[in-house]
Amino acid sequence: MRHTATSSMREVNDDVLKERMQQNEKWGLQRHDYPYWRAILVEEVGEVAQAIQHGSVASKETDADDLYTELIHVAAVASAIAEQVKEEAQ
Ligand SMILES: [Mg+2]
Repeated sequence: MRHTATSSMREVNDDVLKERMQQNEKWGLQRHDYPYWRAILVEEVGEVAQAIQHGSVASKETDADDLYTELIHVAAVASAIAEQVKEEAQ
């Protein structure tokens, strides 16, 4: 079976790659121990949760509200961790 990347898949993955490059520009190449990565990833997942509850009775003024952007952040942090896992396996 041949799988084809949809235009949405390409756009999302392009946005993740752009975010990864921006992270490297901002922070340099990040390599951390896994508990520290967990803290970064969970913070971003928390921002996804905030964006999902945006506008509900549970939301507050300081919550993240851009669901797409926060999902890209989660994927970009996961990508950075996966890069490190791959490098360590080599
Ligand atoms: Mg974020």
